[in-house]
Amino acid sequence: MHPDCERILLTEEEIRLKVKELAAQISRDYADKELLVVGILKGSVIFLADLVRNISVPTCFDFMAVSSYGASSKSSGVVRILKDLDQGIEGRHVLIVEDIVDTGLTLSYLVENLKTRGPASLKICTLLDKPSRRVVDVDVHYNGFKIEDHFVVGYGLDFNGLYRNQPCIMVLKPDVYKGGKKHDSARAGIGNRP
Ligand code: 5GP
Ligand code: MG
Ligand code: MG
Repeated sequence: MHPDCERILLTEEEIRLKVKELAAQISRDYADKELLVVGILKGSVIFLADLVRNISVPTCFDFMAVSSYGASSKSSGVVRILKDLDQGIEGRHVLIVEDIVDTGLTLSYLVENLKTRGPASLKICTLLDKPSRRVVDVDVHYNGFKIEDHFVVGYGLDFNGLYRNQPCIMVLKPDVYKGGKKHDSARAGIGNRP
């Protein structure tokens, strides 16, 4: 385990099995359809890569990057699109893929935004969900794991851009994100970045 983390929350094997389960369910639900998977950069990248390789229906993917306004690490609910989709989604079956739903503010904004573009359907798939932190309701159709309110990293999830390449999901030691480790926090500021 990475020394900046206090424990492993989800092992590689647990994640692998869950991703297969989600992909099987998605493949059944979209059996006669073509799917457009929309990954939210950058946290969803590892999850999306594993998920789409287990989906059996015709699948395209594209990406969006978003950021919350303001300097606070707390989500403000006002979301700025840093990178939009490369293609239109009118009449298409869109599945948003996220790493984690926390307050729900990012996803509720994205859903409202993408709805205005006239997709045939719009659903959400997230690997992790922290329901205790929810501020706005979001309808999550596919959810890997419900977790307690810990700050987790690995398998795409970062702190200051680091740890995304770790293969399992771990609880970060509080002294790391509270600035105990100056090399990380001083270099890149807040942790909640796209
Ligand atoms: P929200 O649902 O609050 O709008 O924001 C969700 C985003 O906050 C996620 O996509 C992720 O970037 C970040 N986030 C929330 N909780 C965690 C966590 O425990 N670990 C990491 N690395 N990012 C988190
Ligand atoms: Mg994310
Ligand atoms: Mg982040």
